[in-house]
Amino acid sequence: MGSHQGKVAVVTGAASGIGQAYAIRLAEDGADIVVADLKAGSETVTRVVALGRRAIAVAVDVSSPESVADLGAAVDAEFGRCDVLVNNAGIYPVQNFEAISFADWRKVLSVNLDAVFLTTQAFAPGMRSRKHGRIINIASNTLGLVISGFAHYMASKGGVVGLTRALASELAPDGITVNAIAPSLTRTPGTMNRGSDAPGGLGGADEFAFVATMQAIKRSEVPADLVGTLSFLASDDAAFITGQTIYVDGGLVRV
Ligand code: NAD
Repeated sequence: MGSHQGKVAVVTGAASGIGQAYAIRLAEDGADIVVADLKAGSETVTRVVALGRRAIAVAVDVSSPESVADLGAAVDAEFGRCDVLVNNAGIYPVQNFEAISFADWRKVLSVNLDAVFLTTQAFAPGMRSRKHGRIINIASNTLGLVISGFAHYMASKGGVVGLTRALASELAPDGITVNAIAPSLTRTPGTMNRGSDAPGGLGGADEFAFVATMQAIKRSEVPADLVGTLSFLASDDAAFITGQTIYVDGGLVRV
């Protein structure tokens, strides 16, 4: 029996990449899964169902209040609860600061940060009423790097870390923990399909090798490197850990 048996986990951005790996690991550990993504989540649903768990895909734009309200209603109708909320959906366009339009800025802030506000407002009340909940937000180790092209991204992920700390204090009285995971550059569709002309040395074929040389563990990160920490933070064993950002990045950033 897995450690998340009987739990329902909502994972945003779970149609692909790191989010898909999180969803499958939580299902392996016994949870039923809501795949909340802009893209079709059928592949993830199929893989979760093959593990013997229940799963639904909900088409959602996590940056839209209306869409997140619809997500809440869909989760309520199907499962009646959300025990674990994983705020993973995110975008990371690489742009020099002067090239970032206000619309670009707002887009990154809304998908990466507003979304955490919206989904937490949607699911925290139910967690409070059950006196138990786990919220895990995905930050980034770019916050600790000397790196260009990520002003909007780093601002959004810095906001995620700040919101994680603030919510940890507010939600702790009702048995809810709020933590963040900060990955290094990880092989996913999003990073592997990035163009080769990105500024700041990013986007080229050597990007993964370059980042790996800076890590203590000198190989590229893959989604499988992240799922154990996610599962632990979602578990009862992590009940006394809250407000933290855990760098799962091969020892690149020391905090
Ligand atoms: P990805 O692009 O491979 O997958 C992201 C998923 O989020 C996609 O399925 C996409 O459809 C979904 N998504 C995007 N915008 C959305 C929206 N508005 N509403 C709903 N779903 C939306 O990305 P990834 O590399 O797996 O990254 C996942 C998370 O990890 C992001 O928050 C990212 O910032 C963070 N992260 C990634 C890396 C990395 O190197 N891959 C490093 C540090 C942090």
